[in-house]
Amino acid sequence: MKWPGMAWIGGAPGAGKSTIARDLARRGDLPLHPIDLWTYAHLDRLPPLRPLAEDLAAGPQYAADAFVDIARLRLDLVAEDVRERDLGDVPALVEGPQLLPSMADSVPAAVWLLPDAEQTRRAREERLARVEDPEGRARLESLLARDAILAERVRREAASYGRVVVEVPAAPDWADVVQRVVDGLGSLPRLQAGDELRRQRQYENLAGCRQGRLWQADRGLAEVPPYPFACECGTSGCAVTWMGTPGEYDVRRGEGWLTAHPAC
Ligand SMILES: [Zn+2]
Repeated sequence: MKWPGMAWIGGAPGAGKSTIARDLARRGDLPLHPIDLWTYAHLDRLPPLRPLAEDLAAGPQYAADAFVDIARLRLDLVAEDVRERDLGDVPALVEGPQLLPSMADSVPAAVWLLPDAEQTRRAREERLARVEDPEGRARLESLLARDAILAERVRREAASYGRVVVEVPAAPDWADVVQRVVDGLGSLPRLQAGDELRRQRQYENLAGCRQGRLWQADRGLAEVPPYPFACECGTSGCAVTWMGTPGEYDVRRGEGWLTAHPAC
């Protein structure tokens, strides 16, 4: 299958992938495509998956291999999702751990962020605290062992395929990390300011709403925490966000566009 245009930020949890991707997409007027926002949408389109707990119980190496198998399946879905966005020559800035250097022949602009192990632990712990997942806590150590195996695999493959890895230390100089990601991705075309930019930001916001609602239903939550919706004003480089729930977003946007500031 021919892949649509994608620039990719891959790597392990805790390296700041999401924040950096969001920041670069907004500054560079790029369509943003965090795979996390398609977690539930993909479940319906994948064969039934073994629960993560079972994979982890079989050992970290087994769980790492299982992760890569699922990642391969999800990559096809990501390509379909990006194609559906109909972006022309502008690549979507995709962010997620699913792409490994050995799978990235069709993705010339890609960077893998690999955090210091302590940083990964902190990120995993924060995520667990957020979603209140007691079973997750019990399997934290196995998850970290799996993450370490995956990070090592990315390092090894990146070296043999000549791809860019950015190592993120425990106390990172973020400006430096971001600059290395920018250099690694190279110069990318931008969305046209105005309607095209608005449309893509709205598409991303709606993906956030859908994921939030599916998560809420899956967990049986009364409310979802506020989500940082992107301003849909269409101004080049606008990085303003507005925090709200999916329901509040619908109300605020009405039939039009979300403007997150009085004027740009
Ligand atoms: Zn704006």
